[in-house]
Amino acid sequence: MKKEAMYSEKAGADNVRCLLCPHRCLIKPGNRGICRVRKNVNGTLVTETYGKLSAVHIDPVEKKPLYHFYPGRTILSIGSIGCNMHCDFCQNWDISQSSPDDFPNLKEHLPEELANAAAESKDNIGIAYTYNEPVVFYEMMVDTARLVHDRGKKNVAVTNAFIEPDSLQELIPLMDAFNVDLKAFDEEFYRKYTGARLEPVKKNLATMARSGTHLEITNLIIPGLNDQPEKFRKMVKWIATELGEEVVMHLSRYFPQYKMHIPSTPEETMLACYEMASEELKYVYLGNMAGTPRTRNTWCPECGNLLIERAGYHIRISGLDDRGNCSKCGTKVIPHH
Ligand code: SF4
Repeated sequence: MKKEAMYSEKAGADNVRCLLCPHRCLIKPGNRGICRVRKNVNGTLVTETYGKLSAVHIDPVEKKPLYHFYPGRTILSIGSIGCNMHCDFCQNWDISQSSPDDFPNLKEHLPEELANAAAESKDNIGIAYTYNEPVVFYEMMVDTARLVHDRGKKNVAVTNAFIEPDSLQELIPLMDAFNVDLKAFDEEFYRKYTGARLEPVKKNLATMARSGTHLEITNLIIPGLNDQPEKFRKMVKWIATELGEEVVMHLSRYFPQYKMHIPSTPEETMLACYEMASEELKYVYLGNMAGTPRTRNTWCPECGNLLIERAGYHIRISGLDDRGNCSKCGTKVIPHH
Protein backbone atom coordinates (compact mmCIF):
# COMPACT_ATOMS: atom_id res chain seq x y z
CA MET A 1 0.00 0.00 0.00
CA LYS A 2 1.35 3.42 -0.93
CA LYS A 3 0.54 6.32 1.37
CA GLU A 4 1.50 9.97 1.37
CA ALA A 5 4.56 10.46 3.55
CA MET A 6 4.72 12.67 6.61
CA TYR A 7 7.53 15.19 7.00
CA SER A 8 8.10 16.34 3.43
CA GLU A 9 8.04 19.64 1.59
CA LYS A 10 7.87 20.77 -2.03
CA ALA A 11 11.26 21.79 -3.40
CA GLY A 12 10.60 23.51 -6.71
CA ALA A 13 9.16 22.04 -9.92
CA ASP A 14 7.96 18.55 -8.94
CA ASN A 15 10.85 17.85 -6.57
CA VAL A 16 10.25 17.04 -2.92
CA ARG A 17 12.48 17.08 0.13
CA CYS A 18 12.01 14.40 2.76
CA LEU A 19 12.42 15.85 6.27
CA LEU A 20 12.12 12.61 8.20
CA CYS A 21 15.79 11.86 8.81
CA PRO A 22 18.99 13.94 8.74
CA HIS A 23 19.77 12.94 5.14
CA ARG A 24 16.95 15.31 4.10
CA CYS A 25 16.94 13.78 0.62
CA LEU A 26 16.00 16.01 -2.31
CA ILE A 27 14.05 13.63 -4.54
CA LYS A 28 13.13 14.11 -8.19
CA PRO A 29 9.90 12.68 -9.66
CA GLY A 30 10.12 8.90 -10.06
CA ASN A 31 13.15 8.64 -7.72
CA ARG A 32 13.56 7.29 -4.21
CA GLY A 33 15.48 8.59 -1.21
CA ILE A 34 18.62 7.02 0.28
CA CYS A 35 16.45 4.57 2.27
CA ARG A 36 14.99 3.18 -1.01
CA VAL A 37 11.41 3.09 0.28
CA ARG A 38 10.23 6.71 0.05
CA LYS A 39 9.49 7.84 -3.47
CA ASN A 40 8.51 11.00 -5.31
CA VAL A 41 5.35 10.08 -7.22
CA ASN A 42 4.31 13.00 -9.45
CA GLY A 43 5.53 15.60 -6.96
CA THR A 44 4.23 13.89 -3.80
CA LEU A 45 6.44 11.95 -1.39
CA VAL A 46 4.96 8.54 -0.65
CA THR A 47 5.92 5.78 1.76
CA GLU A 48 5.94 2.62 -0.33
CA THR A 49 6.07 0.10 2.49
CA TYR A 50 3.01 1.12 4.53
CA GLY A 51 1.62 -2.19 5.82
CA LYS A 52 4.16 -4.14 3.77
CA LEU A 53 6.04 -6.37 6.14
CA SER A 54 8.95 -8.69 5.55
CA ALA A 55 8.62 -10.35 8.97
CA VAL A 56 6.05 -10.81 11.74
CA HIS A 57 7.19 -12.94 14.69
CA ILE A 58 6.51 -13.31 18.36
CA ASP A 59 9.93 -13.01 20.01
CA PRO A 60 11.25 -12.97 23.56
CA VAL A 61 11.70 -9.33 24.54
CA GLU A 62 15.33 -10.22 25.34
CA LYS A 63 15.91 -10.82 21.63
CA LYS A 64 15.48 -7.09 20.76
CA PRO A 65 17.70 -6.91 22.92
CA LEU A 66 15.93 -5.43 25.95
CA TYR A 67 17.02 -6.92 29.29
CA HIS A 68 15.37 -4.47 31.71
CA PHE A 69 11.95 -4.17 30.09
CA TYR A 70 9.38 -6.82 31.06
CA PRO A 71 11.99 -9.61 31.35
CA GLY A 72 10.80 -13.05 30.30
CA ARG A 73 7.81 -11.76 28.31
CA THR A 74 7.17 -11.89 24.56
CA ILE A 75 6.61 -9.14 22.02
CA LEU A 76 5.09 -9.21 18.56
CA SER A 77 7.93 -8.04 16.32
CA ILE A 78 7.44 -6.56 12.87
CA GLY A 79 9.78 -5.33 10.16
CA SER A 80 9.68 -4.22 6.57
CA ILE A 81 12.47 -3.34 4.12
CA GLY A 82 14.83 -0.40 3.60
CA CYS A 83 17.19 1.58 5.82
CA ASN A 84 18.60 5.08 6.03
CA MET A 85 22.05 3.66 6.81
CA HIS A 86 24.13 1.38 4.63
CA CYS A 87 26.32 -0.43 7.14
CA ASP A 88 29.00 -2.64 5.60
CA PHE A 89 28.49 -5.07 8.51
CA CYS A 90 24.67 -5.18 8.44
CA GLN A 91 23.27 -8.45 9.79
CA ASN A 92 19.91 -7.95 8.03
CA TRP A 93 21.25 -6.58 4.76
CA ASP A 94 18.92 -8.73 2.62
CA ILE A 95 15.91 -6.72 3.84
CA SER A 96 17.58 -3.45 4.89
CA GLN A 97 19.44 -2.79 1.64
CA SER A 98 16.45 -3.46 -0.61
CA SER A 99 13.74 -1.52 -2.39
CA PRO A 100 10.13 -2.53 -3.13
CA ASP A 101 11.38 -3.62 -6.59
CA ASP A 102 13.35 -6.41 -4.86
CA PHE A 103 10.32 -7.49 -2.80
CA PRO A 104 7.22 -7.00 -4.97
CA ASN A 105 5.19 -9.58 -3.02
CA LEU A 106 5.49 -8.41 0.58
CA LYS A 107 2.44 -9.47 2.53
CA GLU A 108 0.08 -6.72 3.70
CA HIS A 109 -0.61 -6.35 7.43
CA LEU A 110 -2.36 -3.14 8.41
CA PRO A 111 -2.10 -1.39 11.82
CA GLU A 112 -5.50 -2.51 13.15
CA GLU A 113 -4.81 -6.19 12.46
CA LEU A 114 -1.38 -5.99 14.14
CA ALA A 115 -2.60 -4.07 17.19
CA ASN A 116 -5.41 -6.62 17.65
CA ALA A 117 -2.97 -9.52 17.30
CA ALA A 118 -0.66 -7.95 19.90
CA ALA A 119 -3.53 -7.44 22.31
CA GLU A 120 -4.95 -10.94 21.87
CA SER A 121 -1.70 -12.90 22.08
CA LYS A 122 -1.27 -14.37 25.56
CA ASP A 123 1.65 -13.00 27.62
CA ASN A 124 2.54 -10.55 24.83
CA ILE A 125 3.47 -7.02 25.95
CA GLY A 126 2.87 -5.22 22.63
CA ILE A 127 4.73 -4.55 19.37
CA ALA A 128 8.41 -4.08 18.54
CA TYR A 129 9.28 -2.19 15.35
CA THR A 130 12.49 -3.90 14.36
CA TYR A 131 14.41 -6.13 11.85
CA ASN A 132 14.94 -3.24 9.42
CA GLU A 133 15.15 0.43 10.47
CA PRO A 134 11.66 1.47 11.60
CA VAL A 135 12.29 5.18 10.97
CA VAL A 136 11.89 4.45 7.26
CA PHE A 137 8.40 3.02 7.86
CA TYR A 138 7.57 5.86 10.23
CA GLU A 139 3.91 6.34 9.19
CA MET A 140 3.17 2.64 9.66
CA MET A 141 4.95 2.67 13.02
CA VAL A 142 3.10 5.69 14.46
CA ASP A 143 -0.32 4.58 13.20
CA THR A 144 0.18 1.11 14.67
CA ALA A 145 1.68 2.43 17.91
CA ARG A 146 -1.38 4.63 18.59
CA LEU A 147 -3.68 1.60 18.26
CA VAL A 148 -1.38 -0.50 20.44
CA HIS A 149 -1.55 2.13 23.20
CA ASP A 150 -5.34 2.31 22.81
CA ARG A 151 -5.36 -1.39 23.66
CA GLY A 152 -3.20 -0.85 26.77
CA LYS A 153 -0.08 -2.47 25.29
CA LYS A 154 3.52 -1.30 24.84
CA ASN A 155 5.60 -0.15 21.87
CA VAL A 156 9.32 -0.67 21.35
CA ALA A 157 11.53 0.75 18.59
CA VAL A 158 14.82 -0.91 17.74
CA THR A 159 16.51 1.88 15.84
CA ASN A 160 19.71 3.54 14.69
CA ALA A 161 18.28 6.86 16.01
CA PHE A 162 19.13 8.65 12.75
CA ILE A 163 15.99 10.74 12.69
CA GLU A 164 15.20 14.46 12.62
CA PRO A 165 14.28 16.08 15.98
CA ASP A 166 10.67 16.91 15.01
CA SER A 167 9.87 13.36 13.90
CA LEU A 168 11.52 12.03 17.06
CA GLN A 169 9.46 14.35 19.26
CA GLU A 170 6.27 12.96 17.73
CA LEU A 171 7.49 9.39 18.16
CA ILE A 172 8.63 9.56 21.79
CA PRO A 173 5.19 9.62 23.49
CA LEU A 174 4.18 6.59 21.42
CA MET A 175 7.19 4.50 22.44
CA ASP A 176 7.69 2.81 25.80
CA ALA A 177 11.23 1.62 25.12
CA PHE A 178 14.04 2.17 22.66
CA ASN A 179 16.99 0.00 21.86
CA VAL A 180 19.41 2.21 19.96
CA ASP A 181 22.18 0.71 17.89
CA LEU A 182 25.12 3.04 18.54
CA LYS A 183 27.60 1.95 15.89
CA ALA A 184 30.74 3.66 17.19
CA PHE A 185 31.82 6.91 18.81
CA ASP A 186 33.55 8.28 15.76
CA GLU A 187 32.25 10.50 12.94
CA GLU A 188 34.74 8.99 10.49
CA PHE A 189 33.42 5.48 11.27
CA TYR A 190 29.83 6.61 10.69
CA ARG A 191 30.72 8.32 7.41
CA LYS A 192 32.83 5.45 6.10
CA TYR A 193 30.93 2.37 7.23
CA THR A 194 27.29 3.49 7.63
CA GLY A 195 26.84 6.40 5.22
CA ALA A 196 25.37 8.50 8.04
CA ARG A 197 26.56 10.76 10.88
CA LEU A 198 27.14 10.33 14.60
CA GLU A 199 26.22 13.81 15.83
CA PRO A 200 22.44 13.56 15.20
CA VAL A 201 22.45 10.12 16.86
CA LYS A 202 24.11 11.55 19.99
CA LYS A 203 21.60 14.39 20.17
CA ASN A 204 18.70 11.97 19.75
CA LEU A 205 20.05 9.65 22.44
CA ALA A 206 20.17 12.62 24.81
CA THR A 207 16.57 13.53 23.89
CA MET A 208 15.40 9.95 24.46
CA ALA A 209 17.17 9.73 27.82
CA ARG A 210 15.71 13.08 28.96
CA SER A 211 12.21 11.95 27.95
CA GLY A 212 12.23 9.16 30.53
CA THR A 213 11.40 6.51 27.91
CA HIS A 214 13.20 3.28 28.77
CA LEU A 215 16.50 3.19 26.88
CA GLU A 216 18.98 0.41 26.17
CA ILE A 217 21.95 0.72 23.81
CA THR A 218 23.63 -1.89 21.63
CA ASN A 219 27.18 -1.51 20.35
CA LEU A 220 28.57 -4.06 17.90
CA ILE A 221 32.28 -4.40 18.63
CA ILE A 222 34.30 -4.78 15.43
CA PRO A 223 38.01 -5.51 15.89
CA GLY A 224 40.29 -2.73 14.71
CA LEU A 225 37.38 -0.44 13.80
CA ASN A 226 35.65 0.58 17.03
CA ASP A 227 37.34 -1.38 19.82
CA GLN A 228 40.27 0.99 20.44
CA PRO A 229 40.32 1.43 24.26
CA GLU A 230 40.63 5.22 24.07
CA LYS A 231 37.57 5.60 21.80
CA PHE A 232 35.58 2.93 23.58
CA ARG A 233 36.19 4.56 26.99
CA LYS A 234 35.14 7.91 25.56
CA MET A 235 31.86 6.38 24.38
CA VAL A 236 30.95 4.71 27.68
CA LYS A 237 31.97 7.80 29.69
CA TRP A 238 29.73 9.93 27.45
CA ILE A 239 26.82 7.51 27.97
CA ALA A 240 27.30 7.56 31.76
CA THR A 241 27.62 11.35 31.92
CA GLU A 242 25.08 12.47 29.33
CA LEU A 243 22.50 9.67 29.41
CA GLY A 244 22.93 8.18 32.87
CA GLU A 245 24.91 5.32 34.40
CA GLU A 246 21.68 3.28 34.59
CA VAL A 247 21.32 3.07 30.80
CA VAL A 248 21.60 -0.62 29.90
CA MET A 249 24.48 -1.42 27.52
CA HIS A 250 24.67 -4.48 25.27
CA LEU A 251 28.07 -5.20 23.74
CA SER A 252 27.55 -7.46 20.78
CA ARG A 253 30.21 -9.66 19.23
CA TYR A 254 30.77 -9.06 15.52
CA PHE A 255 30.91 -11.87 12.95
CA PRO A 256 31.71 -11.33 9.23
CA GLN A 257 28.59 -10.21 7.36
CA TYR A 258 27.56 -8.55 4.11
CA LYS A 259 30.52 -6.44 2.88
CA MET A 260 32.72 -6.83 5.95
CA HIS A 261 35.06 -9.80 5.96
CA ILE A 262 37.50 -9.10 8.76
CA PRO A 263 37.61 -11.99 11.26
CA SER A 264 35.13 -12.12 14.16
CA THR A 265 35.85 -10.25 17.39
CA PRO A 266 38.07 -12.23 19.79
CA GLU A 267 36.34 -13.12 23.04
CA GLU A 268 39.21 -11.46 24.97
CA THR A 269 38.36 -8.15 23.25
CA MET A 270 34.72 -8.53 24.26
CA LEU A 271 35.72 -9.17 27.87
CA ALA A 272 38.11 -6.19 27.88
CA CYS A 273 35.31 -3.93 26.59
CA TYR A 274 32.95 -5.40 29.19
CA GLU A 275 35.38 -4.44 31.96
CA MET A 276 35.84 -0.90 30.61
CA ALA A 277 32.09 -0.36 30.22
CA SER A 278 31.41 -1.76 33.69
CA GLU A 279 33.68 0.90 35.23
CA GLU A 280 31.20 3.55 34.03
CA LEU A 281 27.80 1.86 33.71
CA LYS A 282 25.76 -0.22 36.12
CA TYR A 283 24.34 -2.74 33.67
CA VAL A 284 26.53 -4.16 30.89
CA TYR A 285 25.87 -7.38 28.97
CA LEU A 286 27.73 -9.34 26.30
CA GLY A 287 25.73 -10.60 23.32
CA ASN A 288 26.37 -12.94 20.36
CA MET A 289 28.51 -15.13 22.63
CA ALA A 290 27.85 -17.49 25.52
CA GLY A 291 29.72 -15.31 28.00
CA THR A 292 29.79 -16.10 31.70
CA PRO A 293 27.10 -15.77 34.40
CA ARG A 294 28.68 -12.40 35.21
CA THR A 295 28.23 -11.03 31.67
CA ARG A 296 24.74 -12.37 30.94
CA ASN A 297 22.87 -12.24 34.27
CA THR A 298 21.52 -9.18 36.07
CA TRP A 299 23.08 -8.42 39.45
CA CYS A 300 22.06 -5.79 41.97
CA PRO A 301 24.54 -2.91 41.59
CA GLU A 302 24.26 -2.16 45.31
CA CYS A 303 24.38 -5.50 47.15
CA GLY A 304 25.44 -7.95 44.40
CA ASN A 305 22.27 -10.08 44.72
CA LEU A 306 21.55 -12.22 41.64
CA LEU A 307 18.33 -10.78 40.16
CA ILE A 308 17.81 -12.45 36.76
CA GLU A 309 19.51 -15.52 35.36
CA ARG A 310 19.68 -15.98 31.58
CA ALA A 311 20.56 -19.06 29.57
CA GLY A 312 19.95 -18.19 25.93
CA TYR A 313 16.38 -16.89 25.98
CA HIS A 314 15.50 -18.91 29.04
CA ILE A 315 14.91 -16.44 31.88
CA ARG A 316 14.67 -17.05 35.61
CA ILE A 317 13.77 -14.09 37.79
CA SER A 318 15.14 -14.98 41.18
CA GLY A 319 15.95 -11.77 43.08
CA LEU A 320 13.28 -9.17 42.24
CA ASP A 321 10.19 -8.24 44.19
CA ASP A 322 6.98 -7.56 42.27
CA ARG A 323 7.87 -3.87 41.84
CA GLY A 324 11.16 -4.75 40.12
CA ASN A 325 13.31 -3.92 43.16
CA CYS A 326 16.14 -6.05 44.51
CA SER A 327 14.50 -8.44 46.97
CA LYS A 328 17.50 -8.16 49.34
CA CYS A 329 18.26 -4.43 49.57
CA GLY A 330 15.29 -2.80 47.79
CA THR A 331 17.29 -1.05 45.04
CA LYS A 332 15.12 -0.19 42.05
CA VAL A 333 16.48 -2.12 39.07
CA ILE A 334 13.73 -3.11 36.63
CA PRO A 335 10.98 -0.48 36.74
CA HIS A 336 9.13 -2.17 33.85
CA HIS A 337 8.47 -5.57 35.31
S1 SF4 B 1 13.83 8.82 5.44
FE1 SF4 B 1 14.66 8.13 3.47
S2 SF4 B 1 13.98 9.60 1.95
FE2 SF4 B 1 13.67 10.52 3.97
S3 SF4 B 1 15.51 11.75 4.31
FE3 SF4 B 1 15.86 9.74 5.27
S4 SF4 B 1 16.85 8.51 3.70
FE4 SF4 B 1 15.99 10.29 2.67
